[in-house]
Amino acid sequence: MERVDIKSLSLSQLTEYVKDLGLKSFNAKQIYIWLHQKNVHSFDEMTNISKQAREQLANECDIVNLEIAQKQVSKDGTIKYLYRLPDGNCIESVLMRYEHGNTICVSSQVGCRMGCKFCASTQGGKVRDLATSEILSQLYATEEDTGDRISNIVLMGIGEPLDNFDNVIRFIEIITSKDGKNISQRNISLSTCGIVPKIYELAQLKLGITLSISLHATTNEARKRTMPVTNAYPLEQLMKACRDYTKITGRRISFEYAMIKGENDTQEDAVRLSKLLSGFINHVNLIPVNPVDGSPFSQSDARIIKEFQSKLAQLNVNATIRRRLGQDISAACGQLRNEHR
Ligand code: SAH
Repeated sequence: MERVDIKSLSLSQLTEYVKDLGLKSFNAKQIYIWLHQKNVHSFDEMTNISKQAREQLANECDIVNLEIAQKQVSKDGTIKYLYRLPDGNCIESVLMRYEHGNTICVSSQVGCRMGCKFCASTQGGKVRDLATSEILSQLYATEEDTGDRISNIVLMGIGEPLDNFDNVIRFIEIITSKDGKNISQRNISLSTCGIVPKIYELAQLKLGITLSISLHATTNEARKRTMPVTNAYPLEQLMKACRDYTKITGRRISFEYAMIKGENDTQEDAVRLSKLLSGFINHVNLIPVNPVDGSPFSQSDARIIKEFQSKLAQLNVNATIRRRLGQDISAACGQLRNEHR
């Protein structure tokens, strides 16, 4: 019989499961608190559960835990983890320390199949989706390693979160539950390259999270060159989905724009960008693209980025140039895993 990945179960799923085992439903809540609040690694540590029940659980279930395969600490306090999953695959998580609290950037897949040309995470394609337990454990293991509480989450690590929809949604359900880490939905951002039908599916859930769109170009032609997802979902469809998302959820959307030299950084791009974003209570993050091995792209010059920002300001678009943490500890996301592969 296949073993049960108990950390991936929501409280209601866990309740059904323990009832089937002949335990009481209040035991489900106790087990859930051990797993998601106290981060125990074994059933033996669940001292308010009977010994017999603990043995029964251990016979059927695994408690997924991640191993630190590598860790890099930056001068600015940023920590980059390479975590080894139970099957030996590795993924990355990054802990960033801001004045308003600690933020973790988590991965949602082993690799990625979206094929963005500037991105290190997609170079070997997608290996598999992460289980809910493996997304959760990135935060749990990082809190355990540092002893620090994490209050904010960005789903901006390796993988396309909307391409692993159900597991990512259950991750959000568990991490925000009051018997778990009780993190506010407001403190969670989910970034997507723009899988339009999944944006609508997400909208229907009316979550309080922030949706972030990786835009990175202002014409379909240019966007197709760097982001193949544009072939399936052109900019018109993507921007309409964003407008509809805002209408349905009442939540604002934030946009990411990686500045690539000679590719998307002209004054005309700034004008087109302002038109794409008109009508949004919008915010754009300008990110100097991180050069990655095997990609022909380099960062726009600092002066060009400033001019781009000024042009946007003239056109009433609020843009910030992303402050870059952890510059001294290896570059863009996915690179550490690539070195390891
Ligand atoms: N798949 C999701 C989330 C993961 S990537 C998405 O596409 O949004 C997180 C962000 O980093 C995305 O905006 C992505 O486009 C960006 N990114 C990827 N490679 C980068 C690089 N080399 N330099 C700067 N940003 C990059």
